[in-house]
Amino acid sequence: TPVKEPRLLILNEALASELGLDAEAMRQRAAVFAGNELPSGAKPLAQAYAGHQFGNFTGLGDGRALLLGEQITPECRRFDIQLKGAGPTPFSRGGDGRAAIGPMLREYVISEAMHALGIPTTRSLAVAATGEAVFRKQGLLPGAVLTRVAASHIRVGTFQWAAAHQDLAALRVLTEHTLERHYPELLGAENPALSLLEAALKRQASLIARWMQVGFIHGVMNTDNVALSGETIDYGPCAFMDEYDPKTTFSSIDRRGRYAFGNQPQIAQWNAARLAEALLPILHPDEKKALELANGLIEKFADFFQHDWLTVMRAKLGLFTTEAEDRSLIQDLLNWMQAKKADYTLTFAALTKGHLESNEWQTRWQQRLSRQTQSRDEAVALMR
Ligand code: AMP
Ligand code: MG
Repeated sequence: TPVKEPRLLILNEALASELGLDAEAMRQRAAVFAGNELPSGAKPLAQAYAGHQFGNFTGLGDGRALLLGEQITPECRRFDIQLKGAGPTPFSRGGDGRAAIGPMLREYVISEAMHALGIPTTRSLAVAATGEAVFRKQGLLPGAVLTRVAASHIRVGTFQWAAAHQDLAALRVLTEHTLERHYPELLGAENPALSLLEAALKRQASLIARWMQVGFIHGVMNTDNVALSGETIDYGPCAFMDEYDPKTTFSSIDRRGRYAFGNQPQIAQWNAARLAEALLPILHPDEKKALELANGLIEKFADFFQHDWLTVMRAKLGLFTTEAEDRSLIQDLLNWMQAKKADYTLTFAALTKGHLESNEWQTRWQQRLSRQTQSRDEAVALMR
C-alpha cells in the first residue's frame, strides 16, 4: 500500500553489501523501502501462521508485514527480505498494518546490536519514514516501514497452522522445506520430523542461553515469534536487563510476568513442546509411539539448555575449564547480584577489572581461576 512521502531514515550499508546489493543505489530507493515500488522480481505475500499468544491458541499471520522475496548473497546464502509496517493484509484483524518510527528504529538498533554480539538474529536493512501518521495509545505518531532480513520467516506457528488444519501433506512439505533451508545436513534422515524437532530444540536452547548470557529479555515469546532458523525474531517490548532480577519484565502487556527474564528457558521448552505437538501426526504412524518420541526430546530440552548456559556463563567468568562446582559458583554470584540489586552487565564488566566489592565469592572465583593454566589476561579477554 503506497504511502504519502517515502523518506529513507537509515540504511545498513554493510548489510546491503553482504546481501550483494548496491548500497549506493539503495540510497536512492526510498520508494522501495516504503513499499511504494517493488524491486524487480518481487511477488509480495503475507504468510499465514497460528500461534499460542500468552498461552492461548489463535490463528494469525503477517498482519503488517509483506515478504518481498528471497535474496541470494554472493556467498550463495538465501535470505528473506520483508517489509514490516507495509499496510493491511488479510491477516490484519482490525489493525492498521502500520508501524511507528520509534519501534522500527528500536528493532533496527537492537537486532543489529544482537548481531554484533554474535547472537543469531534477523537483521535490519533500512527504516523508511512514510510521511503518514499512525494512531497509537500515545496519540498520533509518525509512521515508518522496516526492511527486515531473515534466514526465513518459518515459525513454530507456521507448523501449528498446518497442524490445526490437519493438513499432513502441508506438514511434510514444510518439514522438508525447513530441513532444506536450515538443516541441510539432516536431509534424507530416516525420520525427518524427529530430526527436525531435535535440531530445532537444540538451536532454541542455544539461542536462549545466549539471551541469558547478555541479559536479553525478548518480552513476547509467543510461538508465532519463535523462528525455526534459531534466530531471534520479532523485536517488540524487548530490552536488556539492568539490575539483576529474574522476575524482570519490560512489556506492559505481560502483567503476570510470563515472559520474565528468568522464565525464558521454561517458556522456550513450552514452545518446543508446541512444535512437537504440531509435528506429532508425522512423527510416527502410531500415536502412542509418536508421543513417546516427542516427550523424550522435550525432556532433553532442559539438558540442552543447561549445557549451553553453563558454557556461556563460564566464559563470562573467564573459565576455560569445567568443574562440577561451576554451576553453584555462577548461581551464587547471581544471588549476590540480586540481593545487592547490582547491574547485570556492569557487574561482569567490573569483574574484568577486578573491581567487585571484595567478598567471599570473589575469593572463591580467584581460586577457581588459579586452578586453570590460562593467564589472567587470557581470562579477561574471554570475559570481554
Ligand atoms: P507480535 O506479537 O508483535 O509479533 O504480533 C502479533 C500479531 O499481531 C501478528 O500476527 C502481527 O502481524 C499482528 N500485528 C501487530 N501489529 C499490527 C498492526 N499494526 N496491524 C495489523 N496487525 C498487526
Ligand atoms: Mg510476531
